[in-house]
This record gives sequence, C-alpha cells and structure tokens, in this order.
Amino acid sequence: MSWDKTSTTQQAKAQEAALRTQLVDAVGPFSPFWSERFKALGTTAGKAAADLRTVAPVGERDVCPDGDPSGAASLVLQAGESGWALHAEGPTLRKALTSRLARPGSYAATVEADTRPTSFVFAGLGLRYPVASTRHDLDVVARAGARLWQVLGLTRSDVLVAAMAPEASATYQGLSLAALGAGSPALFPGDDPDEVTAALQLVPATVLALHTDTAADTLDDLDEAGAVLASVTTVLLVGAPSDDERAGVGEALDRVGIRPRVLAVHVPEGHRLLWGECAEGSGLHTYPDLEVVQTVDAETGETNDGQGPDELVVTQLGMRGSALLRWRTGDLADKVDTGTCRCGRTVPRVLGLQRGALVPLLSLRGGHRGVDLRGLASALDGRADLDDWRIVIGPSPRDDHDEVVVHVVAVGDPSDVAVAVARDIRAAAGLLPTQVVVNEPGELPNGERISRRVHQRV
Ligand SMILES: [Zn+2]
Repeated sequence: MSWDKTSTTQQAKAQEAALRTQLVDAVGPFSPFWSERFKALGTTAGKAAADLRTVAPVGERDVCPDGDPSGAASLVLQAGESGWALHAEGPTLRKALTSRLARPGSYAATVEADTRPTSFVFAGLGLRYPVASTRHDLDVVARAGARLWQVLGLTRSDVLVAAMAPEASATYQGLSLAALGAGSPALFPGDDPDEVTAALQLVPATVLALHTDTAADTLDDLDEAGAVLASVTTVLLVGAPSDDERAGVGEALDRVGIRPRVLAVHVPEGHRLLWGECAEGSGLHTYPDLEVVQTVDAETGETNDGQGPDELVVTQLGMRGSALLRWRTGDLADKVDTGTCRCGRTVPRVLGLQRGALVPLLSLRGGHRGVDLRGLASALDGRADLDDWRIVIGPSPRDDHDEVVVHVVAVGDPSDVAVAVARDIRAAAGLLPTQVVVNEPGELPNGERISRRVHQRV
C-alpha cells in the first residue's frame, strides 16, 4: 500500500508503533530536554507514547526560557556508544558490532551516521534557534520531498526555479531536497530579479517558487526585468498564504499574463518537512508515518475544545537530530481534516493555516519584534485576581506604532491587580504591555479573534 492511500485504521496502527519507537527508543533516553521533562512530570516515554495528549506541548520559549538559543541544543538527541544499541535497528547494529571487531572505530562511524548532526538550519518566531539534522534526517526530508512532488502533481520532468534568497531555513533546504528526491532539475538563483531572469533564460522553468509575503511584488519585478515566464505552469507559494495574499498573487499573474496553478507549500517553524496542496485550497497534506499533527488551545496549550482556530502541534516520527515532540509551531489552523481528499489521498490535511499567527511581528515604540501571544496569555490564564481578560494588539490610534493593550476585570483592588498583571507579563513574555486597562464586568472590548481572548484591533 502506498504512503498516501492507507485506511485510517492502518494509519493509526502504524503511527502508534512508530510513535512508541520514537519515544521509547530515541527521544526518551537520548533527548536531554525530554528525559528531564518526563522525570519532572512523573511520567515515562512509554506512557507518553500511549497517549500523546497527556504530554503538555512545548515551544521555543519553553526550550529557551530566557531567550538564549543555546537551549535548543537540549532537543538534539545525544547518543553515546553505550546507549545507541537501544535504538539501532537489528541488522545495522549487528553489522556495526561485527565490523567493530575487524576494524576498530567503524562502530563509532556507524553510530555517528545515525545520530550525529551534520546540518543545521535556523528557525524561530520570537527568537532564532538552530535545528539539527543527521544524515538520516536529511534522507527523510528528501523522501518526504519526493512525496510532496506527487501531492503537487509534479514529476521529474518538471523544472524548478526558486526566486528566493539563499538562507539556512527548513523551507530552503526542504525545497532543494524535494527536487533532489523527486529527480527534478532545480535552480536557486537567489531573489535578485535580474539573476532569476537570467536563470529562466537558461532553463524553461515549469515551476516557480516564491515567498508568499513578497510573491506579488516579485512577479511584477520579474515581468519588468523581461523574464520568460510562459513555460511556468505551477507557482509554489512558500509559506501558507492567506486569502488576501492569494488574491494579490492572482492579480499579479493577470498583469504578467500567465495562468499557472497556484499551490501552497509550508513547513511549520522548527519542523523540517514541507507540506503541500494538491489543488488550490485543498489543505496541506501531511505524512502520517513521519509525523503526528494535532491541535491545542492556543492560549493554554491544553487539548482543544474543537472551537478553532487552534495552535498546530507537531510530533516527529523517525527524526534524530532536533527531535520534536508535541512542538508548538505558533501556526494557527482551523482543523486537521482526516477525511479523504478530492485527490483520493487519505493523509491528514491542515485546513485554514495562518502561519506564525501566535507570534506576530509588531512595530512597537521600542522597535520591531515578534511578540509571543502565548507567553502573554500564560501570564493571565487561570489567575485568582482576574475574573476575565482580553489582549488587544494592533495599531495605536495616536501614531504609527503597534500596541499591546491588556484589558482585565479585576477581582481585588484594581490598581494592585494592574501592577501585578504588568509585572507577570514582563516575566512571562519579556515585554511590558503598552497599557493595562481595568474594565467593569461585561465591558471587555471585542476585536477580530486571533484566539478566544486575544484579539486584533480592527
Ligand atoms: Zn489532496
């Protein structure tokens, strides 16, 4: 049976086994972060594997609590020669042991091939941290990439040109390994319109990859530079586009005078596998044998009540470097749909994804920064001195800057509560709110909902 057509029951069974292997044989014993955390929670990798939802999800601020990216190193599996036997597959281990007798040092080489990080990308919304891959992981990324090509309806005869600046990101690495895995020629000329135009002179590209947030402008720039775009039948929007962004790209394509398919590809922050659409708006297809994709309440990190949008949480299966377990991506999604897609694939699809929505980049008076709304919410959730609260972010009515205004209904003395709230928010999120407003019950403001109680000023 192919990877994308197995029944829900078969998928669940295979996923359960893979999850157990990943947690009991790899993450539990070899992830410094998780072995400590399991101990602190009074649980074990085996129990966690039996019901993932009992494991409180973690994100970048949990791993790097003081904003120091070196904390991310504790997610990297660290196996010594003595421990490795536990998670090596039988034949690989036997071969390594045999050759160790004949050639001292070769055992360590085999261990390293499986567990030693050889490649790094950078990720992060509120802070920038490294994500490590072993050679084995890169192989998984390339294999998932070959599948992505199938989902996108591409073949090895397609030719990719990516108009993207070279960067050490999972997106850039994933796209180049996808082309490699699928056997497609791929050119990465950078994002300079003249360089991209020159690359398009060399090869008749059928696939053009563009960063979602700059795609419309890039298309106009390429048109102006005289790029040959007539052969392009597919535009990949890298980073899940919003409806407005899709519309903007549609208009730019009209101006350029081509009508390719426009498909989204996306890798959540911290993760390494690119998800894609089979048709516009189909939802992002995931890989159930390589990851478990779940949603949680964006404010509390607890299992959600089905009242979307919720935060996407990813658990990797079979990855070895920075192995993610219940990882909070900062992306919001309406739903993870497990029904069969129009394309016939039975893999879970992520619908209504809003990339990085929980850590928006705000232009505060103190400068531009990603503000982690989850940290703000955690300082307010479940407090005895608050009856209710709202966080409202958005442009100030007074000037061009953004504001973070916290509205509360206080239980005790209003000014004491306001001071305590400001202090705790600074401790949890490293940010002092622009203002703390104490409201009367029933007078909390409403805006466009990001999550239940975090709103955008409209
Ligand atoms: Zn589909």
